[in-house]
Amino acid sequence: MDIKKEIEKINCGEVLYDISLKNYNTYKVDSVALAIVFPNNIDELKNILKFVKEKKIRYKIIGNGSNLIFTKKYYDIVFINLRKFNKVDITEEKVVALSGVNLMKLAYDVSKKGLSGLEFATGIPATVGGAVYMNAGAYNSSISDILVSAKILTDKLEIIELSNQDFEFSYRSSLLQKLRNYICLEATFLLKKGNCSDILELIENRKNRRLASQPLNYPSAGSVFRNPSSEIFAGKLIEELSLKGTKIGGAKVSEKHANFVINYANATGSDIKELIIFVHEMVKDKYGIDLKVEQEFIE
Ligand SMILES: Cc1cc2nc3c(=O)[nH]c(=O)nc-3n(C[C@H](O)[C@H](O)[C@H](O)COP(=O)(O)OP(=O)(O)OC[C@H]3O[C@@H](n4cnc5c(N)ncnc54)[C@H](O)[C@@H]3O)c2cc1C
Repeated sequence: MDIKKEIEKINCGEVLYDISLKNYNTYKVDSVALAIVFPNNIDELKNILKFVKEKKIRYKIIGNGSNLIFTKKYYDIVFINLRKFNKVDITEEKVVALSGVNLMKLAYDVSKKGLSGLEFATGIPATVGGAVYMNAGAYNSSISDILVSAKILTDKLEIIELSNQDFEFSYRSSLLQKLRNYICLEATFLLKKGNCSDILELIENRKNRRLASQPLNYPSAGSVFRNPSSEIFAGKLIEELSLKGTKIGGAKVSEKHANFVINYANATGSDIKELIIFVHEMVKDKYGIDLKVEQEFIE
């Protein structure tokens, strides 16, 4: 079967074939995909999903790729990107955002309106869908603190509404990680009225803290490992082993923040993966701690 010719017949929005993934992951790994599909609406999304399911073709939803590691070339995967799902509705303190909305921009936009609750997200380069999937968070706040409910497309292509409790949120974890084929279409957040200049000052302080402590001038996907507990920080364990600056190929453990791997010289996904495995083994050998990788390898 010529998959490209078959996709051409479907009404599923823009499709890019044999496309470099460099602009679809924040590590800037230059991998290749068979196709990326950009549906404009739920019907087009359902059309491409029906096709890949019927033909048993592998598929994967991607947001901003800010938590993904592309370890090979993907001539067998159709990626689906929901960036055209980008509408936001704000009614008083209630914010309804479609899943492709840029979380950082949303966080700045609501903050400028004097709404408080998304300040933590101004440094997280996620989409709303990816942030709900990961229960993204920072500074002891996370999506789970503000999410009221979300619209989900199930594996059977039915639309359901899940409440905050249904998501079984915990540290960087949500129900969507268990129900892998469920897709977040839209999220409703409840924020609080606040003082605009206080909110913007807090954001500015945190931005400066991030700039001082994180290697934001290099491509990365944020923290590599989850912290083993609220008292034990993965970065501290790695730093104590003097692993900062360790390199494999074009990937390096950041000298600025030990829990970041950066792409400093055209790293491949395999370079990044090997380095992460190496660091994991070193921490396990020395401390007996089995660090859990926060980022996702696409194998
Ligand atoms: C510089 C930098 C700083 C960061 N700082 C933080 C931080 O402070 N806190 C934090 O939590 N994270 C941080 N991250 C990591 C990352 O931004 C988050 O994990 C984010 O939630 C990933 O969102 P995304 O849209 O990029 O998703 P992707 O990386 O594209 O995808 C991640 C997973 O979500 C799934 N997914 C995406 N969209 C949907 C959807 N609509 N429905 C269902 N599943 C979906 C994908 O299939 C994939 O399994 C940082 C990353 C970078 C590069």
